[in-house]
Amino acid sequence: MDNENKTEVDDIKDDKGYEEVCYICRRPESKAGRMLRIPHNICICVDCMQRTFDTMGGTGMSPTDLMMLDPMFPMPQDVKMPSLDDEKEESTKRKGGMPNFHFMNLGDFGGFDGIPHNQRIKKNKPKKKEKPVFDINNIPAPHKIKAELDQYVVGQEQAKKVMSVAVYNHYKRVTRKDEDSKIELEKSNMLMLGPTGCGKTYLVRTLARLLDVPLAITDATSLTEAGYIGDDIESVVSKLLAAADNDVERAEHGIIFVDEIDKIAKKKNTNQRDVSGESVQQGMLKLLEGAEVEVPVGASSKNAMVPMVTVNTKDILFICGGAFPDMDNVIKERLNKSSSMGFLADLKDKYDNDKNILQKVTVEDVRTFGMIPEFIGRLPVLFSLEALDEDMMVRILKEPRNAIIAQYQELLAMDGVKLTFTEEALHEIAKRAMDKKVGARALRAVIEEYMLDIMYETPKDDNIGEVIITKEYLDHTGGPVINMR
Ligand code: ADP
Repeated sequence: MDNENKTEVDDIKDDKGYEEVCYICRRPESKAGRMLRIPHNICICVDCMQRTFDTMGGTGMSPTDLMMLDPMFPMPQDVKMPSLDDEKEESTKRKGGMPNFHFMNLGDFGGFDGIPHNQRIKKNKPKKKEKPVFDINNIPAPHKIKAELDQYVVGQEQAKKVMSVAVYNHYKRVTRKDEDSKIELEKSNMLMLGPTGCGKTYLVRTLARLLDVPLAITDATSLTEAGYIGDDIESVVSKLLAAADNDVERAEHGIIFVDEIDKIAKKKNTNQRDVSGESVQQGMLKLLEGAEVEVPVGASSKNAMVPMVTVNTKDILFICGGAFPDMDNVIKERLNKSSSMGFLADLKDKYDNDKNILQKVTVEDVRTFGMIPEFIGRLPVLFSLEALDEDMMVRILKEPRNAIIAQYQELLAMDGVKLTFTEEALHEIAKRAMDKKVGARALRAVIEEYMLDIMYETPKDDNIGEVIITKEYLDHTGGPVINMR
């Protein structure tokens, strides 16, 4: 049959492009691994098969027994079944199974080969493997890591520097050959503070992509102590395993980013059990330090049907991030306290207008905020990101490798139109995004509002050669400047 006339059913028939699905746990081949095909075209994954044998083991059955029970495997003549009367024995011989046992023919259910079509899963196209920028087994010097981050993340110089060094040290420690060395290197887990939308997640994401390591991003707010409603803490490792395509070794070198970590600060003035605050911090301690955790494969919760694997978290890099609202007051209070006495006494409002007061954060402040000392102790790299100002927003619009402006320019260039923004217009966009108080995240929404008309109107006229976005256009006091070819 030539390829063009092939239908989906033909594809199913010759099994191309479709994955097998385990009849018991419903996981596809890509998740569950090798499948065993049993009669009637039924596939069972190795884990479920093993589990079945284990269960039968308890009742004295072995895999051979199982095969005998199936009418597809005729009984050898010299095997005598322990039957009760002759008649039954006779019927057993004929059918090749156990007396009074009847196996349902699963092949009778829908589909021409036993499995309804809609239960088959189309195979994902194999992903093109990009060459990682960095090799974690031969990690480049921190300045090279930072130079690469510079291409994507604007500003945040101190944060990029601290992260580059921490990542450098972490992977040096992970790939250390000299196992016998007496000096044990500690993990460089990080705690980062920064207002919303200033690039915390973006930094971590970029870093993981450059290193080509799996990354799991979780929200601390969804975590609760095991046994309570919510995700239990070990589910973060499960997510990482999924991000690593169930490859335990790859997951063990991955990065876990726990966002909104400030939301699990110790609750003040409460008599109830703090299941989503302090208890979560307590629960995370062993993960941060390094522990063997049993996690379900291909599912987020543990249950009897899901196979488990053990993941060691000792080489997983944990990065915790949060906005820590009101942290500025905690820092100010500490600074004022230390400088309000004696000859060196300062003015009380000295720090009130300090925009980057968050940079002065110390372990003591984080503790005052409500994080327990054991938790902070396991996140030795503490740093904060700057709040974005208008100039930084303008730079974010145009400088990064995949800058928003460059993306629109690329889209219009496909129609042969040149797109330009005046400096004034860029500042206006940045200003409006700042007003939304959600950081750089607002930029896209603001710019999209104005680009809609441009992208609708320009393809109408083939003679348009250039569009210049001006502040007047944004203010609705004029239109964009249009130059013809
Ligand atoms: P948060 O700090 O709340 O985690 P994100 O990292 O999710 O914020 O930032 C939101 C978006 O803003 C990112 O996807 C990124 O495109 C953009 N962004 C934020 N900060 C920067 C920055 N410093 N440089 C470049 N882009 C940034």
